[in-house]
Amino acid sequence: MTENAVSTPHPGWTTLSADMPGAVGGTPLVRLRKASEATGCDIYGKAEFMNPGGSVKDRAALAIIEDAERRGVLKPGGTIVEGTAGNTGIGLTLVANARGYKCVIVMPETQSQEKIGFLRMIGADLRLVPAKPYRDPGNYVHVSRRLSEENGWVWANQFDNVANREGHRATTAPEIWQQMGGKVDAFTCACGTGGTLAGVALGLHDAVKRDGVTAPRIVLADPEGSGLYGWVKSNDLSVSGSSITEGIGQSRVTGNLEGSPIDDAERIPDPEALEIIYSLLGEEGLSVGGSSGINVASAIRTARKLGPGHRIVTILCDGGARYESKLFNPEFLRAKNLPIAPWLNK
Ligand code: PMP
Repeated sequence: MTENAVSTPHPGWTTLSADMPGAVGGTPLVRLRKASEATGCDIYGKAEFMNPGGSVKDRAALAIIEDAERRGVLKPGGTIVEGTAGNTGIGLTLVANARGYKCVIVMPETQSQEKIGFLRMIGADLRLVPAKPYRDPGNYVHVSRRLSEENGWVWANQFDNVANREGHRATTAPEIWQQMGGKVDAFTCACGTGGTLAGVALGLHDAVKRDGVTAPRIVLADPEGSGLYGWVKSNDLSVSGSSITEGIGQSRVTGNLEGSPIDDAERIPDPEALEIIYSLLGEEGLSVGGSSGINVASAIRTARKLGPGHRIVTILCDGGARYESKLFNPEFLRAKNLPIAPWLNK
């Protein structure tokens, strides 16, 4: 355990929470031993898989619902509709259950069976649609917007509704700043909506301005098949390649990403992310999903660029169990010529 490493219990452990939404956030920041050793840096992952709905998106879901409540558009017994890769849908449905709202979730049918099964289990009104690009009117985001217009439901609109990033600015960023004792050299994470990256980046910038210290380097982590790496590097959103990761990658600058401080980007191929996921699980006991692998890979690359002695933070967005049928399925991986966890490769 290095100096400043956080070994205190989960902050929620000492807090009485009035309800489930009160248990969102306050997640541990875990030192990633292998990544730290390999780079001579201290690399930390924010354990967002410990949220009640199992992902970082609980924060966005809660922030969006509380913003709609404050604006008076979401009334008791009201309905919220959203297009999601799954995790936002899980967060919205759970918060809606706790607060007495109804929730309609539109999701591409290509997302993992585990997320689909979990959404059904928790009572979401789930509408699966064929996977279509954003420019197609059948894309899940547009379907959810149309449903809201036709039925008078509240549209969460996580991609362009900046209540999403403001939730991270108000909670995730201050938690990181406090847990790191105000010493963060870089922050990196991937983008779906961009709410996490932009919200944490803005919140860290708020903190450095207040404390009069140097701003951490903000690095966007991108999978293959996403346009954001090119956007950061050369203002070119064109896309090449593909990724099996879910919930991340984007071909447009969302409302949440607009105006966010971003200093650099890393593009991570799936095999690099998968090897990291297997190592985190097999050697450090951390079960995480694909986007966390992309994030930690980007943190390692960022550490190598900065050199030894730096402190880098990333996000462990959700847990591996959500992707057992893909990332931990030897047949699925073999068919795609991707690496397999050594203990499953028999
Ligand atoms: N990882 C996972 C597993 C996700 O579901 C999402 C959200 N779709 C993200 C990362 C990206 O988070 P954000 O929407 O805040 O960019």
